[in-house]
Amino acid sequence: MSYLEMLNEDVRFRDGLKACISCGVCTAICPAAEFFDYDPRKVMIIVQKHREEEIESLLRGETIWNCGQCMSCKTRCPRENTPGMVIQALRKVSQESGLFVHSVKGRQQLKVKRSVGDNILEYGYCVHPDTLLPDQHPEQGTVWEWIYENRKEVYERLGANIYREGAGAVRKIDDESMEELRAIFRETGGERMFQLIEYYSEE
Ligand code: SF4
Ligand code: SF4
Repeated sequence: MSYLEMLNEDVRFRDGLKACISCGVCTAICPAAEFFDYDPRKVMIIVQKHREEEIESLLRGETIWNCGQCMSCKTRCPRENTPGMVIQALRKVSQESGLFVHSVKGRQQLKVKRSVGDNILEYGYCVHPDTLLPDQHPEQGTVWEWIYENRKEVYERLGANIYREGAGAVRKIDDESMEELRAIFRETGGERMFQLIEYYSEE
């Protein structure tokens, strides 16, 4: 299957690109374009041309990982395109084909999978206090080590229901809900995507 055929299987690609007139409004509104070497207008023109080698170079490169997924572009495009959704489809094909390992930001998918992704399947949360290890999260500041070591007491004093089932923030997600969540990942292809990221990253 060609990359274009893989893209066309994704509803986000089919809905996200109707006809780009290269006006550049998406780039003008795009916050990521302000900070990175990134131009959503150029991405749209490349995919609209349907040239496999140019699409492959997008899938191998850094560009598609610069989008912040804010969807500001959707609100302004005069042709009702959504570059942010086209980017989502490109990222998926990059992961499915293994081409994400050729870029620095693409390779970061492994870290995202092993942190946010695995946290969801283990705890039911993207971020859980148990996983914010001080040596891996210097951005948490100098007192984080103390907070981490005393997290049960600290979170309880803040009103959280940590480690217990029932209502409240950071509550333990019950087994039935966790099984339901994992089933959603299995049935929607999320589990397979995680396996592919591990497989290609190791390779
Ligand atoms: S705003 Fe829409 S039509 Fe204009 S360049 Fe961006 S995607 Fe193309
Ligand atoms: S979704 Fe991506 S491309 Fe669209 S405005 Fe936000 S950062 Fe830019």
